[in-house]
Amino acid sequence: MEKKHRVLIFRCNEYNPDKIAGIIKEGMEELGVKPFGKILLKPNVVLAHPEVFPHAFTRKEFLDGVISATKARAEGVEEIAVGERSGITIPTRFNFKMAGYLDVIKKHNIKTYYFDEVEQVPFALKRKENLRKNMFFPRPVVESDFLINLPKFKAHPWCRLTLSLKNFIGIQDDRHRLVDHNLFLEHKIADLQEVIQPKFIAIDGITAGQKMMLTPTPFDMGAIVMGTNSCAVDTVGCHMVHVDPKDLIHLRLTSERGFGPMNLEEIHVGGDFPLEEVQEKTRGFEFCMEHIDDYFREDCNLSCTVGTFPETHSPDYCWGGCPGALQEAMHIFKGYYPNVYQEMKKVRYVVGKVEGPLPLDSDEKVIFAGDCTSWEGDIDGEHVRIESSYRPPWKVDEKKTQSNDMLTRNLKPGLVLFKNRKSRYIHLKGCPVSVADHVHYISGLGKIGNPNFDSRLLLDANIAYWQMRFGRFMNRFL
Ligand code: SF4
Repeated sequence: MEKKHRVLIFRCNEYNPDKIAGIIKEGMEELGVKPFGKILLKPNVVLAHPEVFPHAFTRKEFLDGVISATKARAEGVEEIAVGERSGITIPTRFNFKMAGYLDVIKKHNIKTYYFDEVEQVPFALKRKENLRKNMFFPRPVVESDFLINLPKFKAHPWCRLTLSLKNFIGIQDDRHRLVDHNLFLEHKIADLQEVIQPKFIAIDGITAGQKMMLTPTPFDMGAIVMGTNSCAVDTVGCHMVHVDPKDLIHLRLTSERGFGPMNLEEIHVGGDFPLEEVQEKTRGFEFCMEHIDDYFREDCNLSCTVGTFPETHSPDYCWGGCPGALQEAMHIFKGYYPNVYQEMKKVRYVVGKVEGPLPLDSDEKVIFAGDCTSWEGDIDGEHVRIESSYRPPWKVDEKKTQSNDMLTRNLKPGLVLFKNRKSRYIHLKGCPVSVADHVHYISGLGKIGNPNFDSRLLLDANIAYWQMRFGRFMNRFL
């Protein structure tokens, strides 16, 4: 079989910007990569904090090295910029600061695009497989000439792995990012590839992340992976950690649309770190693809009841929505309050179509999570009927989505909880219910601290919020 695509794996055991720059430059030369025009670097900064979330993001030294290599190789440059939209409603500015990016950006005198502040423009999709006819993207993404994708090599509790393809979730602002971030997440990731493909990809796999995406367990992988095709890079990434590429559903869907291979035989794997050697090193690499009713068990005051789900391609579980958001929220709590699983009050989390009585303890509060959830029965002698309001993608108008504004998100749950303070249960609407909302409501019902109001987050995140609002306002006039 003809090997049309090339992917390189290089050894790199330290976050040394000069060393990384040398490796990236060598990789670019070998792959014939010459950045030009409007060059946009897209790292993964879903969440960053040096103490609480030290392994969730592409490291600043990696970004530094890639910028140096890009400058050395580029021709006909109009601009070099770093752009990203962080996760869980927190302003990207906050995470760039926590990740240490500001010094790197200043050192290289390049531009920053916070995707939550710039203009969002529609992009028409034309395939029959697309979930919708239009998606919205930040203007700098649509207008870039040379996108450089810089994912962090991480396991992912919803998608198995987040590499080049999955990193594109961060090219949308929250208002649009959560649309189809549910049973259709894998399809959405495939749709995202249609707006633009990276012309160069470099994955930070020096310290990789295991199990979770926001709070991964570090794994000393000591590798940088490079290529020019997302499918090829992700295929090699799968093999690096013993995953069958067919099990990375968004890779399969994207490859089936002709964006690249998912067969190792079509890829020439080079570099100085042989794939077999990487595989030997990653024998113990850990994933977490557990259903929440198995995941939260005896040693946790959170228990989960999972029903069935409304789409035929995934009737048993919703991998892209509420259950995963709950898992991530609980890990965020654990990052701030290590004993939270035992210290929280009892909470029952119910998701999907559930039938039959709920075996509740007398002091257990209930969260019915998400639009698709339905249940009917008695709680404390009161007849309760939770009805599904789930809508498939074609009934969701992407132009009428909620803003997911951080301030609103921080204030609304307090009001809702106060209004329902005498009730044993609450029904959270949304498809999905975001990680941020999970944090607020679990905090309120479980009577535990709220990381959003923790001193390690509160001041800096709120300053960043008002800077973001100001930046967004000013960008309207540019
Ligand atoms: S409401 Fe939540 S669990 Fe149900 S389909 Fe939507 S994202 Fe999935």
